[in-house]
Amino acid sequence: MDLYLAAEDLAFRDEMRRFLTEALDPELRRAERLNTSFLADPGYGLKWQAKLTEKGWAAPSWPSEHGGPGWTLTQRYIFDQECERAGEPHFRGASIKMIAPVLMRYGSPQQQAYYLPRILSGEHLWAQGYSEPGAGSDLASLKTKAVRDGDQYVVSGSKIWSTLAHYATHMFALVRTSDAGKKQQGITFLLIDLKAAGIEIKPILSIDGTHEFNQTFFDNVRVPVCDRIGEEGDGWEIAKYLLEFERGGAFAGGVLRALHYRLYRLAAEPGPDGRRALDDPLFVARFAEIGADIDANDMLELTAMSKVEGGGNPGSVASSTMKIERSRIRQAIAELAASVLGPDALRWEDRRPLHLLPEEPELVEERKVASALYINSRSQSIFGGSNEIQLEIIARTLLK
Ligand SMILES: Cc1cc2nc3c(=O)[nH]c(=O)nc-3n(C[C@H](O)[C@H](O)[C@H](O)COP(=O)(O)OP(=O)(O)OC[C@H]3O[C@@H](n4cnc5c(N)ncnc54)[C@H](O)[C@@H]3O)c2cc1C
Repeated sequence: MDLYLAAEDLAFRDEMRRFLTEALDPELRRAERLNTSFLADPGYGLKWQAKLTEKGWAAPSWPSEHGGPGWTLTQRYIFDQECERAGEPHFRGASIKMIAPVLMRYGSPQQQAYYLPRILSGEHLWAQGYSEPGAGSDLASLKTKAVRDGDQYVVSGSKIWSTLAHYATHMFALVRTSDAGKKQQGITFLLIDLKAAGIEIKPILSIDGTHEFNQTFFDNVRVPVCDRIGEEGDGWEIAKYLLEFERGGAFAGGVLRALHYRLYRLAAEPGPDGRRALDDPLFVARFAEIGADIDANDMLELTAMSKVEGGGNPGSVASSTMKIERSRIRQAIAELAASVLGPDALRWEDRRPLHLLPEEPELVEERKVASALYINSRSQSIFGGSNEIQLEIIARTLLK
């Protein structure tokens, strides 16, 4: 494997660096530096997406026929690394990364022509409607019902943990259209306009006081049949395809490396007791170990993602492995940062979004971010399907 960048890739990298230096204004940089979640605040995320859209770079993995830049794998890798290095607000989530590949593979030409440009422009923002009370790991037990009435479905039930649904314009949802046969067979994939009558979105506050989650209630909501993806009963296959992109459809190395570097800076400064974690050989050994894991993860992702080029998918084993690895490394960084903070890591204080609080010296802010990231990173091994479930998928596929 040749790990050196060719001259044209170096030129591409320099072009990205020039763009990022200009386009990431101080407000966006600060918002991301103080962001303690895995997705940016939508206000900043959409502002950043608009700047990328102007360049044609908002959806790096999309092929050019759908409005993507049509980049090679190496270019996508470079773009990702450079964006993270520069501190871009992370916002390629349920819209660009998850529902878009599903539309490209299973959507009708009409659905593609209507939805994809609106995703790209940021006019439509999507939420994921998979989990329900009683259907998380055992997703196929979902009960939200859709009953056909002429050229519409009538949807009733509720979805839970709908991330950022209170900002979203649409939700892609798994609904039950039949109780016959195996429970996976009666599931259908619908695209739901969240402005439709009968939808109520109620906030769920997280342990850290932030509002990212919601429970979404459907009371006889009418959804046109033309907003069904695939055929009735195809939902389970489509849902699994989408999950491959949620779990493995992007490079994590950039963000992990950026967090690792921030950990270094935290450890290089004397704490309140005057000691530097960087002078502790045990800290340094663990820090180096995590650095090696990030490099190994890059190789894993590059190998797996090479299959995605040309519209393919990473495959369930590769995407589950990527999900386990990135969450394990992210949690390892957060745990080591917590050990640098000591008791401060668990100090319960004002947990409002840090960018809304008065500005403080950078190191003071970095310590607050590290403490909040420690709590938030616990979610990494749960969302997109828990890591135990990923291990089960890998075992079941490989051991058959
Ligand atoms: C930050 C975050 C964002 C999320 N966003 C969304 C969203 O936008 N849309 C959405 O639909 N969902 C979302 N989810 C929900 C997520 O998909 C579920 O939390 C996840 O699938 C686990 O389901 P559960 O919470 O019901 O846990 P459960 O299924 O009740 O599992 C509880 C524990 O039991 C373990 N367990 C369960 N079954 C098995 C098994 N067979 N073998 C071994 N261990 C098992 C699990 O690993 C877990 O540790 C989000 C979750 C988080 C944390």
